[in-house]
Amino acid sequence: MTQQQYDFDLFTIGGGSGGVRASRFAAQYGARVALAEKQYLGGTCVNVGCIPKKLLSYSAHYHDDLRDAAGFGWDIGDTRFDWKKLIANKDEEITRLNGIYGDLLSSAGVTTFDGHATIEDAHTVRVNGQRITARYILIATGGRPTLPGVPGEEFGIVSDDFFHMKELPDHAVVAGGGYIAVELAAILNGLGTKVTLVHRGSQLLRGMDADLGKFLAEEMRKKGIDVRCGTKFRSIQLKDDGTRQVHFENGETLDVNTVVFATGRHANTENMGLEQVGVKLTPTGGVEVDADFRTSIPSIFAVGDVINRIALTPVALAEGMVVASALFDNGSRKISYENIPTAVFSHPNVATVGITEEAARAKYGQIKVFKSDFKALKHTISGSKERVLMKLIVDEASDRVLGVHMIGPDAGEIIQGFAIALQSGATKTHFDMTIGIHPTIAEEFVTMRTPILQTV
Ligand code: FAD
Repeated sequence: MTQQQYDFDLFTIGGGSGGVRASRFAAQYGARVALAEKQYLGGTCVNVGCIPKKLLSYSAHYHDDLRDAAGFGWDIGDTRFDWKKLIANKDEEITRLNGIYGDLLSSAGVTTFDGHATIEDAHTVRVNGQRITARYILIATGGRPTLPGVPGEEFGIVSDDFFHMKELPDHAVVAGGGYIAVELAAILNGLGTKVTLVHRGSQLLRGMDADLGKFLAEEMRKKGIDVRCGTKFRSIQLKDDGTRQVHFENGETLDVNTVVFATGRHANTENMGLEQVGVKLTPTGGVEVDADFRTSIPSIFAVGDVINRIALTPVALAEGMVVASALFDNGSRKISYENIPTAVFSHPNVATVGITEEAARAKYGQIKVFKSDFKALKHTISGSKERVLMKLIVDEASDRVLGVHMIGPDAGEIIQGFAIALQSGATKTHFDMTIGIHPTIAEEFVTMRTPILQTV
């Protein structure tokens, strides 16, 4: 088949972050593009991920703000929180975003299909019974939450359901120790739910610098969250009155209204014909791709959460642009997986860029660690006990800053700029030469002078 004999140059399966971005860019480069989405445009991030999570997190922050206001002379009076109103406003915003995604695709000239797409062969897709051919196929089907395999887990909910809960629970167990678990726990806590965070591992935020997980657990406890690490579920029972009775392996039980599982996600690779076509999967169940995002079938590509690399929206966007540019432009767009900054919208926020102290020591041997743990100016009179943690990891030989880690207000906003510094190869001397902005929390990053630990 020549190029014109295909119905489209590119057929994208999945209208989330990666799929929409790749499709728009491909169309702007002149390709004839179609996209199939089976549920909602914008995918996980817009509908049940980053956006609703951050909106709910903003709402939960008012709890601290209202309380802290008293120290600044404000008498707020009685306050009341309305979950239904928050969810309705959040839904309205998401509907608006769904529309924007649709407009972006149509104005770029992308043909959209509402429906579940399957792949029939290297150049053929089927949606709603219709066979469509394309020179290239892009799999951008994302992932979904998984349950941990606990008896009675069907009485719990996952993050997708969390954003549509009818009521705010009085008492909830949140299961998991990763970023989604701590974020959902913080939202519930801020909105007034009694929260027990149950994690089977020894520490929160595995994979991040160990100090972050420890410090965050303490901060969450100060806010009233019962953080239980090293705790495993045995089973969940549904009582007649709708209460969930949670049984733990240590023999303890808890009666709660809701159990939220944030215990993992799995790539969406099922029921798509991947096996028949011969698209290989990785041992963890993601679609296997090479450095150019090409699968084991040369005409089929994959990006985003479905490839199980780094499950973040900006990464899916960047991967989508790399594929569009490689297939339909000059291939000049590249992605670097080094120094990808990330934030956790727990309360307080966590953000990080670069490598952990543990990884730096293993890779570079001699490192310097600068660490600061302090009470922010605001809390000197707010009455809050919240503290800030900041940490820099520096390679002793080259003086390069290898990692910047933080827990504190707006950590994500602060670390974004430091990501550019690290990507540009900034050294500790550059940090020291930088004048701080006073009085801010962020200035501490350019005023830390004495390393706390030196390895040999
Ligand atoms: P998705 O956005 O999941 O899109 C995949 C789309 O494919 C879906 O719309 C799905 O319906 C569709 N689809 C699947 N199979 C088919 C099929 N066969 N046919 C047609 N359509 C199909 N990332 C951040 O960067 N920052 C955050 O703060 C953040 N917070 C998050 C919070 C939560 C609770 C969750 C769950 C995720 C969060 N993420 C965050 C991760 C982020 O949402 C994902 O990394 C991102 O959405 C991945 O984009 P994607 O295009 O790979 O997949």
